Amino acid sequence: MIQINQIKLRVPVKNETDQLHDEIRHILHIKADEIKYIKIHKKSLDARKKPDLFYSYSVAVKLCSSQLEEKLLKSSKNANISRFAPPQYEFVMPKNVLSKPSLQRPVIVGTGPAGLFAAYFLSLAGYAPILIERGMDVDARQETVDEFFQSGVLNHSCNVCFGEGGAGTFSDGKLQTQVKDKSGRIRKILEIFVEHGADSSILYDNKPHIGTDILTSVVKNMRNHMIILGAEVRFQTTFTGFIQKNGELCAVEVTRADGSKEVIETSVCVLAIGHSARDTFLRLHQLGLKMENKPFAVGLRIQHDQNVINESQYGIGWEDKKLPAADYKLTYQTRSNRGVYSFCMCPGGYVINASGDGEGVVVNGMSYHDRASGIANSAIVITVDDSLYGKNLFDGMHFQIELERKAYQTGNGKIVLECYGDFKKRKMSEFRTNGVTPKVKGQYLFGPVSEILPKDFYDDFVESIDHYGQVIKGFDSEDALLCGIESRTSSPIKILRNEMMESCVHGLFVCGEGAGYAGGITSAAVDGVKVAEKIALMYN
Ligand SMILES: Cc1cc2nc3c(=O)[nH]c(=O)nc-3n(C[C@H](O)[C@H](O)[C@H](O)COP(=O)(O)OP(=O)(O)OC[C@H]3O[C@@H](n4cnc5c(N)ncnc54)[C@H](O)[C@@H]3O)c2cc1C
Repeated sequence: MIQINQIKLRVPVKNETDQLHDEIRHILHIKADEIKYIKIHKKSLDARKKPDLFYSYSVAVKLCSSQLEEKLLKSSKNANISRFAPPQYEFVMPKNVLSKPSLQRPVIVGTGPAGLFAAYFLSLAGYAPILIERGMDVDARQETVDEFFQSGVLNHSCNVCFGEGGAGTFSDGKLQTQVKDKSGRIRKILEIFVEHGADSSILYDNKPHIGTDILTSVVKNMRNHMIILGAEVRFQTTFTGFIQKNGELCAVEVTRADGSKEVIETSVCVLAIGHSARDTFLRLHQLGLKMENKPFAVGLRIQHDQNVINESQYGIGWEDKKLPAADYKLTYQTRSNRGVYSFCMCPGGYVINASGDGEGVVVNGMSYHDRASGIANSAIVITVDDSLYGKNLFDGMHFQIELERKAYQTGNGKIVLECYGDFKKRKMSEFRTNGVTPKVKGQYLFGPVSEILPKDFYDDFVESIDHYGQVIKGFDSEDALLCGIESRTSSPIKILRNEMMESCVHGLFVCGEGAGYAGGITSAAVDGVKVAEKIALMYN
C-alpha cells in the first residue's frame, strides 16, 4: 500500500471519502478506478490559519495492482508519498503454557489499564491469570459512584479511583500519550479497545478519546473475553501482602470484603495498583520493597463556557463547521520561576469528585463520548518535589493528604467552587446564574478556594491565569470557576524495579502509574503490555 501524508481538506468537510479519493487521484495522477480502497491512517485538525480550518490526513491507499503501486513509489519525487509500513506489534506467544504443571497462575493486582492489559496479553498467551481488584465490577461500581455523587457518602474500596477499569474509567478517556510507538504497542492497544467497543476513529484521530460512557462497556467486554480465555477475576478482594523465600515470591495474601483472608500460591504477581493505593504502598514498604519519593503536580481545576474555548481555538464562524469541542494546552513560567501548566483538559466535560479517602476532597475531570456538557474544564497545576514537601519517604503522599483534608474542611466534605473574579479579590463567591454554570459530578458549594491552595502558590496562579487570558480570550474572565484540590496528577512514590520490571523480590513485578512508570491511560496500558512480555520471556 502507498501512504500519502499532508492531504488537506477545508472544514467543513462535506463528503470525506469522495473528497479524499479526488485528492489522491490528483496527487498520484491516476484514474478513479485504479484506487481499490483507502484507509485513513491519521487525521488532525489544523487551526493555524483560523478561521480557515483544515483537516490534515495521512492516508493508506490500495491500488488495483501492486505493480502500479511499485511504479508510483519508484517514480514519485513527492516527500509525502511512501510505502505504507506501520510497525506491526506481535506478542511472542510461549508454547503450551498450561501444560507445564510447575507453572502457577500469575496474579495480577489491579484492573486499571496497566493490570488489565498485562492480564489481557497473559490470557491470550494461555497463562490464565487471576485478577485481584479491591473495588467492584464496573456496573456495581457505577451505581456506587453515582450514590456517592448524590449523597457524599464514600465507599473507601470502590470509588472514582478504585474498582474495575481503574482510575481512568470515570474519565475523559483521552488516549494521547508522549510515548513513541516504534514497536506498534500503542496501535495494538487501540485496536483492542476498538475490538471491545470503542469507536474506530481512535485508530486514526491524533487526539483519540473514548468517553466514560463507552469505557465502562469496553472494560466489561475485555473482562468477559479474558474469562473465556481462562482468566479469573475476583472483585472486592484486596492484596494485603506477599510471602517470599530467599528473595523469590512464593504467595500473595488477599483479604475479601468480609475480612476473610486467603493465601494464593504463585511465583508471579504483577502489582498494578495505581496512584491512590496509599495503604498498599505502606504495606509494601513494610514488607521491604524499595521505594523513593517522586515529583507530582498539584493545583486547581478551572471551568469555562465551552463556546469561549471554541471561539478562541477555532476562530469566528466555528458554530457552522461541525467541529468537536475544542481543547487547549497551556504552559507558563511565572516570575518566581515556577512552571504552571494545564493538565487533563476535558472539553465538554464535568468536574468530578475523585476522592478515595473519607476526610479528603480531590477533583478531576471526565467527559462522555459526545463531550457535550457545554463546559470545558482543565486542571492548572504546578510540579512539586521533595524540596517542597520533604525528603522522608512518603512526605509527598502526606503533603497530598494534607491538601485534600484542607479541601474537605473548607467545603465541609463538598467540592469548593469560586469564581475567578472573587478568587483574585480573595472575596467569597455568590452563586451567579448568569455566569458559567458549574458542571460537577458530586456535591459542591461556593467558598474560598484560595484557602485550599498551598499559600505559596496563590500569586503564581493569579499570574498564570491572567497570562492565559492573553492566549485564550476569556480564560481570565471573572466568571471562570475554580475548584480544588487537584492533587492526584500522578503517583507520589516510585517502586524501584530492575530491567525485567521486577521489584527487589524475584517474581513480584511492578507497573503502571502507581509504581511511578506511567502517567495516563495509554502509557499505563503500554507498561502493562511490557510486563506481560517480560513474564512470557521468563516463564516460557
Ligand atoms: C477522574 C480521572 C480522569 C482521568 N482522565 C484521564 C484521561 O482522560 N486520559 C488519561 O490518559 N488518563 C486519565 N486519568 C489518569 C488515568 O486514569 C491513570 O493514569 C491510569 O488509570 C493509571 O492506570 P493504572 O493501571 O496504573 O492504575 P489505576 O487505573 O489507578 O488502577 C489501579 C487499580 O488497582 C486497584 N487496587 C489498588 N490497590 C489494590 C489492592 N491492594 N488490591 C487490589 N486492587 C487494588 C484499584 O482499585 C484500581 O482499580 C484520569 C484519572 C482520573 C482519576
